[in-house]
Amino acid sequence: MPKPKNRNRPIWASWAALFLAAWLLCAWAPAAWAETPRPPAKPPAAPAAPAAKPYHGNVKTKKFHRPGCRYYLCRNCLARFATREEAIRAGYAPCKVCRP
Ligand SMILES: [Zn+2]
Repeated sequence: MPKPKNRNRPIWASWAALFLAAWLLCAWAPAAWAETPRPPAKPPAAPAAPAAKPYHGNVKTKKFHRPGCRYYLCRNCLARFATREEAIRAGYAPCKVCRP
């Protein structure tokens, strides 16, 4: 059974509501799209910077390695150091295999 329609509302009211809705959408939507957060841009030399910071530090064992060491690319070698002094200052000890 259909609901009785509101006969008191004039025809222009629905058009005005439609227009208002369209206007609100046009006024609000571009601003909302512009404000959608984007993933932050990665620093340019984040994943591959072997020249800048050649030493790898093992964050678990607190040992650091020089390039060429068999432990250089280990799973926990996530710390990066430019110099061996920097690694030592950070609390890392030189690896006994590669002796950096
Ligand atoms: Zn090593």
